[in-house]
Amino acid sequence: MTATIIDGKEFAARVRAKVADHVTRLKDDHGITPGLAVVLVGEDPASQVYVRSKGKMTVEVGMKSVEHKLEADTSEAELLGLIDRLNNDPEIHGILVQLPLPKHLDEDLVINAISPAKDVDGFHISNVGLLGTGQKSMVPCTPLGCLMMLRDHHGSISGMDAVVIGRSNIVGKPMAQLLLHDSCTVTIAHSRTKDLAEVVRRADIVVAAVGRPEMVPGDWIKEGATVIDVGINRLDAPEKGEGKTRLVGDVDFDSCAARAGAITPVPGGVGPMTIACLLANTVTACCRANGLAEPE
Ligand code: NDP
Repeated sequence: MTATIIDGKEFAARVRAKVADHVTRLKDDHGITPGLAVVLVGEDPASQVYVRSKGKMTVEVGMKSVEHKLEADTSEAELLGLIDRLNNDPEIHGILVQLPLPKHLDEDLVINAISPAKDVDGFHISNVGLLGTGQKSMVPCTPLGCLMMLRDHHGSISGMDAVVIGRSNIVGKPMAQLLLHDSCTVTIAHSRTKDLAEVVRRADIVVAAVGRPEMVPGDWIKEGATVIDVGINRLDAPEKGEGKTRLVGDVDFDSCAARAGAITPVPGGVGPMTIACLLANTVTACCRANGLAEPE
């Protein structure tokens, strides 16, 4: 079997085009420009790249982008003060604090200081609780992007066996919640799972969110299963030249693609969808704040 490649790049471009249309309507009909504030503390190179591309795409869809770059030794009080100002700024509808934060800052405290209505990452404890109980919430961007690709590919995923490898608060757990809401039978696997290969072999849908390069081999994949690879791992690639690197996912692409029915590539799969969903969440937050109809 040759797997269908789920083109996240192309899908994300369609999502961004819809977001841009909605932004135009908000501006033309209501005089409102959705605004997204991104806060970066310190100089983590990967985070800097993410923040730059988030800012660029925010502007491209017509929204206001505000970036706050703070020194690595910023105090908790300073950071909380900034979040408080952004919470009270009527031109800002979405606030994202780029993780990870430097060690001296309490991530839970900082995330829970963001107004839940502006928490476009969906990490605030209120949004986590709302998602867990199936109520209207802000849904974390990466799992939301994965779910959109699954729905787009399958139509309905009701009744399918899904295995999520990874139980982080930002990917694995919310992914499992979303699959459960769509009536999958969900297993969450993690580093203590016994016989992971057998667990994965049962799955119609495999979502890998581990952070271990090419950990899932093709012979773990049930013939025809759909594989969503969340992992972003940078490996040295001396074959491309000195100091060069390449990105790989958490699944071994070639051997998994040989057995899967469909698979997302890395790069060009989940990654672009994550940013597109962040923009979509910001428009949703803006509509809710203004009592306007939300995008579908
Ligand atoms: P975390 O490190 O927070 O979580 C990793 C999870 O994988 C943990 O639950 C851990 O289990 C589990 N795990 C580790 N080793 C194994 C193993 N050998 N077998 C089974 N499970 C294992 O990572 P994140 O959830 O934040 O991210 C996961 C990956 O997704 C990373 O590569 C990250 O870069 C990527 N990512 C990509 C995004 C995108 O936009 N595409 C966005 C966010 C993340 P345990 O809990 O037992 O330790």
